[in-house]
Amino acid sequence: MRCAILSDIHGNLDALRCVLADAQARNATDQVWCLGDLIGYGPEPNECVRELQSHPNFVCVAGNHDWGAIGRLDTAEFNRDAAAALSWTRERLDGALQQYIAGLPTTLVLEEFTLAHGSPRDHVREYVTHAGLARLNFDSFATPYCLIGHTHQPLVFEQAFAVESPGDHTPELMGRSRRATSIRTFVPVSGEPVALAQDRLIVNPGSVGQPRDGNPDAAYMLFDSDEATLVLYRVPYPVGQVQQKMATAGLPVRLAKRLAYGW
Ligand code: ZN
Repeated sequence: MRCAILSDIHGNLDALRCVLADAQARNATDQVWCLGDLIGYGPEPNECVRELQSHPNFVCVAGNHDWGAIGRLDTAEFNRDAAAALSWTRERLDGALQQYIAGLPTTLVLEEFTLAHGSPRDHVREYVTHAGLARLNFDSFATPYCLIGHTHQPLVFEQAFAVESPGDHTPELMGRSRRATSIRTFVPVSGEPVALAQDRLIVNPGSVGQPRDGNPDAAYMLFDSDEATLVLYRVPYPVGQVQQKMATAGLPVRLAKRLAYGW
């Protein structure tokens, strides 16, 4: 199976379409997994949700902006521009799509992955920004790998293991006595596979609709179950076109500007 992993689309339909076209060209749409924040910030929330719903094998967990847009989280929890964009979104969100978003789970287990927007221990709100927080989260999921979004920055946390007792050399004992040691953190490189091997991973594919790592190109990942790899891809999209739509919609100027520099 080849599957596209998307996160933080935020109502940016142009970015979403470019990412889906890129995934299609790589035969990576057997399934489409989304890590939340379909809407909020961007000018086409309804269109984004419908575009993804039209995919036969689309699954999604809820993000904090999804909940903010349907009133499940108070907009006071967001900064001023984000709150303004959420109020704008809430006024325009189709009733059936509000119900769809209200029914999204906060976590899912698919194949060998646990999916959540924020973190496995705090599905909707927590930002896993560094190894210390990743360490606290590795005990909160049972699968080998966890996929999260929310920070809008592609990142991999790798939990390395050591054998508890140096005298245990049979495979069974080694498996039973594995002890977590260090957390290695690295930024995945576009086009370079991350191997799904022995170590447990927490992986963030970055953001489709509002990247915040200094690169304005949309980000997503491809999971290949035969190769046992995750690969990050960056996809350019017409940023100016989205900025124009945001200006026409009356969305906060700062939110449109930041798309151009990916921050
Ligand atoms: Zn987000």
